[in-house]
Amino acid sequence: MSAGAPRSAFVRRWPVWATLAALAVAPAVVPQFYVTLLNYIGLYSLVALGLMLLTGVAGQTSFGQAAFVGVGAYATAILTTMFGWSPWLTLLIGLLATAAIAMMLGFVTLRMSGHFLPLATIAWGISLFYLFGTLPNLGGFTGLTGIPALSIFGFELRQERHFYYLIWAIALAALWGTHNLLDSRLGRAVRALKGSLTMAEAFGVDGAKLKSIVFLYAALLACVSGWLYAHLQRFVNPTPFSLTASIEYLFMAVVGGAGNVWGAVIGATLITLLKEVLQDFLPKLLGQTGQFEVIVFGILIVVLLQRAPDGLTPLVQRLLPRRRPADPAPAPALAHRAVAAATGRPLLEVLDATKEFGGLVAVNNLSFELRQGEILGLIGPNGAGKSTMFNLISGLLPLTRGNVRFNGETISGLAPYHIAARGLARTFQHVKLIGQMSVLDNVALGAFLRTRSGVAKACLKLDGDDEARVRYLAAQQIRRVGLGAQLHDAAGSLPLGKQRVVEIARALAADPALLLLDEPAAGLRYAEKQELANLLRQLQGEGMSILLVEHDMDFVMGLTHRLVVMDFGQKLAEGLPADIQRNPAVREAYLGAA
Ligand code: ADP
Ligand code: MG
Repeated sequence: MSAGAPRSAFVRRWPVWATLAALAVAPAVVPQFYVTLLNYIGLYSLVALGLMLLTGVAGQTSFGQAAFVGVGAYATAILTTMFGWSPWLTLLIGLLATAAIAMMLGFVTLRMSGHFLPLATIAWGISLFYLFGTLPNLGGFTGLTGIPALSIFGFELRQERHFYYLIWAIALAALWGTHNLLDSRLGRAVRALKGSLTMAEAFGVDGAKLKSIVFLYAALLACVSGWLYAHLQRFVNPTPFSLTASIEYLFMAVVGGAGNVWGAVIGATLITLLKEVLQDFLPKLLGQTGQFEVIVFGILIVVLLQRAPDGLTPLVQRLLPRRRPADPAPAPALAHRAVAAATGRPLLEVLDATKEFGGLVAVNNLSFELRQGEILGLIGPNGAGKSTMFNLISGLLPLTRGNVRFNGETISGLAPYHIAARGLARTFQHVKLIGQMSVLDNVALGAFLRTRSGVAKACLKLDGDDEARVRYLAAQQIRRVGLGAQLHDAAGSLPLGKQRVVEIARALAADPALLLLDEPAAGLRYAEKQELANLLRQLQGEGMSILLVEHDMDFVMGLTHRLVVMDFGQKLAEGLPADIQRNPAVREAYLGAA
């Protein structure tokens, strides 16, 4: 069995091997024209791959990718023809220039929400296009010629058939690296950027920084494509780097889809062939030349995206053998995140916390404490301000007034990812999971702060040890909450009650000192609630402190050590569960609300 497993994994990857074999023999068997086409598909795939990550996965739209291709192409064109520099050195210069520009654009726009990145990239794309076209010495819109051929170990890549291998070696390396990146600690976080940014930040992800990294990654891929292009063509002019070209790259990424890195190749192939066919065929059909192909092209894309909104990759994948992922193998435990033993102070102190939403005071001058090792219940009628209080503690909302201290230090004012790093994890009343991602990967995201691997390690798959530990830990937490049979299911396919339980497993994967649970038992059946109560008691026995919001009074009364009751943002009562149950003001607030 163990000898058969790797072999069958190899066999099940036959579509990849078949593609690689076809790419390897193609230049020897297909006519020159198709080698040229394949060269362009390889170059476009590099750019589309970056956009797949940036737009498809991370949800950030760039209209400036062609301009980054232009930076790579013009950097090498200028420096090789005018100064005689080695193309390999100019690649480095191009990458540095791209990085500087991308970081500047990213830094300015990615911290702001809204459409700043698309707008900034449009402006950048247009200005660079005209800069290339009008700067003296760059040959204007006719461009620069005489770019030298690339040579590798003295072998000059003058023929397209030879250049082909360089392009595809780089494209395949980029596909492999990006595939690895998506399947890593950072990859899980990138997949959260589009729909679950606040959740990701509550688990330690610096969203703006990660978006900048992805933007930079995509820009660097585009730059490499431009560098290759310049040495393939041996001349450059501004046309291929226009806004129109950027939009075509976006089409490639969207048509391919973001489910798999091969989507970039599928998208690049389809758009390239479509343009080729339309430019060739339509004028013949209509007996005149014109811009018909642009119109037909646009209509076809709209129809395609209407039929397959997630791009073509899912359709292709449906035809291929399905791979059932293996359960994570046992791996050593991750280091415990030791939070300094409390200094005799309470673990959590909320001091005169106030949160105003315009005229509405959602939390009003609220103070309470949570002692180390305690399960504290925060209860109150709907709209009392409990979830808002959670958001104030975890840093997702800023306080209007007041202060929150954790383990003796002020945490109010810190970004949520810094608060998470202090040892705090939470669940959300409105479940925040990444629906298409497996339960296992969702829970693994909870451990974001417990390993350190960055982009380079992930791309080169040097993060294997950490990943094995994280995946095994995630599987253990999922089994612990009773969802072991759902490890590989898409989180979004679970019933809502179970999704809440996945959220608990994800919070546990963070190994927090303080766990904030917002209505964890909602949607669970009686027996499931009992299991959850047992689990929380067990966690508390292991030294975890828990702040619990819950409406099920039996659940709360049997589990918590103390209760804080909120009503209209204020503290109505505080004390032992038995006393709270008898408190007339509390009874009235609940009966009044009911
Ligand atoms: P609870 O969790 O106790 O049911 P919430 O904290 O969700 O209560 O809400 C408290 C009050 O604050 C409610 O009146 C709610 O409508 C309001 N509120 C919560 N979040 C926001 C927000 N982001 N913007 C405006 N009002 C909000
Ligand atoms: Mg709530």
